[in-house]
Amino acid sequence: MKVLVAVKRVVDSGIKVRVKPDGIDLQGVKMTINPFCEIAVEEAVRLKEKKLIAEIVAVTIGPKQGAESLRHALALGADKAIHVTTEARIDQAVQPLDVANILAKLVERDNYNLVLMGKQSIDDDFNQTGQMLAGLLDWPQATFASNIQITDGIAQVIREIDGGLQTVKFKLPGVITCDLRLNQPRFASVPNIMKAKSKPLETIPLDKLGKLHNSIQITKTEAPAIRKGGAIVENVDVLLQKLRNEAKLF
Ligand code: AMP
Repeated sequence: MKVLVAVKRVVDSGIKVRVKPDGIDLQGVKMTINPFCEIAVEEAVRLKEKKLIAEIVAVTIGPKQGAESLRHALALGADKAIHVTTEARIDQAVQPLDVANILAKLVERDNYNLVLMGKQSIDDDFNQTGQMLAGLLDWPQATFASNIQITDGIAQVIREIDGGLQTVKFKLPGVITCDLRLNQPRFASVPNIMKAKSKPLETIPLDKLGKLHNSIQITKTEAPAIRKGGAIVENVDVLLQKLRNEAKLF
């Protein structure tokens, strides 16, 4: 059984980004693998360790630096990688339907039995690509997975839903998007980082598989409002007086 794992390169979640009207300033900013995609890679590796799958292929769509995320996936345990290259901004111009279309082409070309993805990219927060891919392939899907069991070609997935958990099952092939509590990704060891450098990495220019439609235009980006500093008051009377006279709440 072959698994395709989609990994996106995003701004590191620990970075305080600078917001400009036309988007996040990416100049010199630390980038990393999208955390939910790292969880998807880890899950694929665990399934392979349980001998439930034979091959893990990691794929990214994006500029040449995206190869770093693929090498990270290879160091975690992926067997091969595919880099679909474009110089377009992945947080703006490479949109979910474009990504889903390209992944669908690769699934048709290479016959995967399962696609594992992050539930969401932390840069654009779309949470759409997995659902669109399942629609395009006419495959069943389980989103927000917090547990995945595969037995005799059937995937049983526990999904995190509002106020609880839902268990679903379907016959593979299918698409599963991974949530935070699915697993804790391992650290890539130095020998595995070295080994990853010699694992196969195929590069395909995006225009060989599809095109970018720019169906959504980002018209404006704004930073969140700056929070006013808090203050400690001496007692409840002072608090009430400040709420009445300064905050004018009553
Ligand atoms: P989104 O729908 O943008 O929130 O992304 C959901 C998931 O789709 C991500 O966690 C990735 O697994 C996959 N994905 C989105 N964009 C890309 C990309 N440029 N390259 C590879 N995978 C992607």
